[in-house]
Parts: sequence; structure tokens; C-alpha cells
Amino acid sequence: MKAAVVRQFKQALVIEDRPIPTPGPGEVVVRLEASGLCHTDIHAAHGDWPVKPTLPFVPGHEGVGLVTAIGAGVTRVSEGDRVALPWLGYACGTCEYCVSGWETLCLQQQNTGYSIDGCYAEYAKASASYVGIVPPGVDPFDAAPLSCAGVTTYKAVKVSGARSSDLVAIFGIGGLGHLALQYAKIAGATVVAVDISADKLAMAKRLGADYTVNAAEEDPVLAIQRLGGAHAAIALAVAPQAFEQAFGSLRRKGTLVFVALPADNAVSLPIFETVLQGITVVGSIVGTRKDLNEVFELHARGRTTVIRETRQLSTVNESIDDVLRGRVSGRIVFDVRDSSAQPVRQLQEVGALA
Ligand code: NAD
Ligand code: ZN
Ligand code: ZN
Repeated sequence: MKAAVVRQFKQALVIEDRPIPTPGPGEVVVRLEASGLCHTDIHAAHGDWPVKPTLPFVPGHEGVGLVTAIGAGVTRVSEGDRVALPWLGYACGTCEYCVSGWETLCLQQQNTGYSIDGCYAEYAKASASYVGIVPPGVDPFDAAPLSCAGVTTYKAVKVSGARSSDLVAIFGIGGLGHLALQYAKIAGATVVAVDISADKLAMAKRLGADYTVNAAEEDPVLAIQRLGGAHAAIALAVAPQAFEQAFGSLRRKGTLVFVALPADNAVSLPIFETVLQGITVVGSIVGTRKDLNEVFELHARGRTTVIRETRQLSTVNESIDDVLRGRVSGRIVFDVRDSSAQPVRQLQEVGALA
């Protein structure tokens, strides 16, 4: 099978021929159809974070496809079922986090496309207990971005405590942000979308944002304080400055949710204002299997719109470059169904990543 492989950090990915995986006990093998490009995959390929993946590895944790083989003891899914392979690839199931509905905090967890090979491939192996079940009627190319961008922002909106009378500021209207604003609207909130790209803000308007702020042209702190200040701000932009602006945009007792994971791993927040204004700062990491079920359910009922562009896996390096340059609306989703037809040479000629 074809797979796009990170051999060295900050170098172009290489398309390789690899053996189709075989399932061990409790595992399934999935023939992938659609595979989203999350900004996390770029952080992984760049070695941006304190904990780095072991080279070489196959990125991708928004994979959707059909189960083709099941290992011993698997009863949850059968051959032919359509499943999603999210970031949370495995958790122990028995620790205090797993048994309290916080499997995303399990210390034993494995992460798809990071600590285990992921979905930039024609096939992938996964723990049967942690795949998402894609309901009938949900397009696999929509299901792919929902498996990370969707579930992560659905959870972040829950964590923010957003309610119908609230003003919620979404910083960064990319793959995550275009869904975040829809979940905040579904929660009933009034939504301010903040980005540095006019195109992305136009998309935000089309998706239901009540206000937009172009942070490249005006100070989002002033703009949002003019609206009375946000009850909650969700930081999805890959820029520490946006986190600080999100903090400044809050009203008293507001909540700032950290979601983006920029390589520059520090922000500066004032202690005095945090204390005197009763501010909550909270981190939010992806979502549980239950959250993902709810995300798929909302989509099946027509409540969300996934903005996406389908590309072949052979474009992986230029696609990464396009995300970094802010040239993508919503998500790039690779069509990995016919990547065997792609010329391998074309990819190896692409230079180092930006
Ligand atoms: P993306 O590149 O699709 O979107 C980022 C958006 O931020 C873009 O629209 C960009 O124009 C905008 N932006 C950049 N600088 C800005 C600024 N200064 N102010 C406002 N907007 C700005 O990325 P994505 O796939 O949506 O991922 C976003 C981040 O979230 C990444 O760091 C990713 O690793 C992280 N992430 C976290 C989780 C989690 O569970 N916490 C899950 C998935 C992704
Ligand atoms: Zn992701
Ligand atoms: Zn656990």
C-alpha cells in the first residue's frame, strides 16, 4: 500500500510502499477512503512539540474508511463497517481518567499518526475499541474533518460553558475554527469570529458568525470589548499572540479555552487581571468517543457544514505548504482511495517543507 511517511522532521514527506497491516487481538484494519490534513500533522512532521513522534512515522488522525479485517476478540465492529480513526487511538480503559469519561487524559494513550502510524495511507490499523462509528448518511469526506476538527471544537465549546445568552469569540477560523463557530451557534451563543484572513472571515459569516474581526487590521481586544467582552474565548490560532488577545477580549468571569498548540509553547497572561476579574483558563484536548458520536449525530441531522477541498495524497507537501500560508478554506481532505494510481516520483521531487 502507499503511505506518506515523515522520515525527518521539517523535511518533505515521502510516498512509500508499505505492507498492508494485519490486525492483532482487539484491532481492526481499515481501507481508508478519506484522510484530513489537521494542523497537528504539520506540528508532528516538524517535531514542534516537547514530546516528539519516533521517526519514521505516518501522520494523519482524521481517517475514515471501511473495516477490511478484524483481529481476535473484536465484537464492536464488523468487516464492511465505516469507521473513523481519531487522535485518541488507544486508552487503557481502567484508569481514573478512563472510568470517569476523560479517556482523552489517559496516561497510557496512543495517538494516531503520532505514536502509532496514522491515516496518510491506503490502510491503517486501529484499536477496535477506539474507532468512531460513522453513521449511515454521513459522507466519509465530511466524517474525516469531524473526527478531529469537529470533535475537538465541539468539546472545546462544551468546556467553555457557552450558553444561549453568551458572546463567544473564536480565534482562528481554519479547519477547527470553521466548525467551532457552528457548535457555538448550536449552543445558542452569539459568535465573534477572529482571523487574519478576509477570505476566512467571509466564510465565517456564511457559516453563521454574528460578527467578524480581522486581527490584521484592527485590535480584536478593543473590537470585542466594544461588544461588551466575551463570556468565552476559544484559542484555535497557531499564534501565542492570539491567545493573549483572546484573554484580553474576555469580560469578567470569562473563560479562555486553550486548544491550538503552537511550536512557540508560551504565552504571557497577567496574574492581577486574572484574579481580580475571576477569569478561568482551561486546556481542552480533542474529545471522547461519546463526543464524536454526538458530532456525527449533529452532522447526520444536517446541523453542521464541513468546508473542505479534496486532494490526492501525492499533493501532501504542497498541501502542507498551503495550510501554513493560510491558503486553504476549512480542511484539505486527501482522497486515499486511488492513491496507488499516483506517480510516486512527483512527490519525492518536492523540496523541504516551509
Ligand atoms: P489551521 O491552520 O487550519 O487554522 C488556523 C487558523 O488560524 C487559520 O485560519 C489562520 O488564518 C488563523 N490565524 C493564524 N494566526 C492568527 C492570528 N494571529 N489571529 C487570528 N487567527 C490567526 O489549523 P487547525 O487545523 O484548525 O489547527 C489549529 C491548531 O489547533 C493547531 O495548533 C493544531 O495542532 C491544534 N489542534 C489542537 C487540538 C486539541 O485537541 N487541543 C486538536 C486539533 C488541533
Ligand atoms: Zn487534529
Ligand atoms: Zn486510562
